[in-house]
Amino acid sequence: MPPVVWQPGEALVRVHRVAICGSDWHAFEGHQANYTYPRIIGHELSCEVLEVPDNSRGIRPGDRCAVEPHLTCGVCRPCLLHRPNCCESMSVLGVHVDGGMRGLMNVPVERLYKSERLSFDQLALVEFLTIGAHAVARSGLAAGEDVLIVGAGPIGLSVLQFALTAGASARIIEKAEFRRQFAGRFGVEVLPEYDGRPASVVFDCTGDEEAITASFNRVGPAGRLVLVGQFLGFIPFDHTPFIRRELTIIASRNSHHQFPRVIGMIERGEINLDQWITCRMPLAEVPEVFAELASHKNYIKAVFEVQDSDV
Ligand SMILES: [Zn+2]
Ligand SMILES: [Zn+2]
Repeated sequence: MPPVVWQPGEALVRVHRVAICGSDWHAFEGHQANYTYPRIIGHELSCEVLEVPDNSRGIRPGDRCAVEPHLTCGVCRPCLLHRPNCCESMSVLGVHVDGGMRGLMNVPVERLYKSERLSFDQLALVEFLTIGAHAVARSGLAAGEDVLIVGAGPIGLSVLQFALTAGASARIIEKAEFRRQFAGRFGVEVLPEYDGRPASVVFDCTGDEEAITASFNRVGPAGRLVLVGQFLGFIPFDHTPFIRRELTIIASRNSHHQFPRVIGMIERGEINLDQWITCRMPLAEVPEVFAELASHKNYIKAVFEVQDSDV
């Protein structure tokens, strides 16, 4: 690997924590949309700033930051519409360009979000929470609305977190007992399978063909189906019931403008991340166990410690 040298306009950072999500496992297995190879993965990152040019955002050497991994062009139509999360030239750290499973890297200064109060562990969990925050924002969820979330992996749980913040009434479906138990701490109904009651808003957080197809029939009349999980392929659905109920399908990709909000919520104790990290290890041990970890998925968030100077 070539040495990392500080580039103008970018900060040189030392990565401290890399949190892992479903897309990393799928990328490792070779069947995830968007990834190009060979690739250093890692897009859920916390870091310490080593060198940084003068900037208007108050980022200085020594700051602890979360990293927004989406590098966008700023000039395409979605960017000009203030929707850079679907930029036509989107480049995501750890997906299209090398990510954080290494000691040092360069990050554009405007992609760093600092906190003087959060630990490196907490900062590494900000990115996946922004995915749920964005999905709920896309859905236009209103207080009191009836929500069904399919899948209680980290993304489903982050959607649940922000659905509850929006004042919705939520249920969540999850097949795995371990995840059902974790979801129970949110105080909502946790179901092993669909209970036959359609919801006003259904979030698919599985990316699973069968689950997504079934979700079309779990949305009540005039409802919304929000697709958060990604499936690599075509999804067939029954057209007439879809028209009859005049459903709206909403796609949700990445996140936009959510980092400061999520960091603020964690700082104020509105999001409690205490028990989310159920698997951790030093980066040096990762090559040996990564394949096994990918197969059993018996954890909520796995975090790899690139530096061990902080908890
Ligand atoms: Zn992720
Ligand atoms: Zn763009």
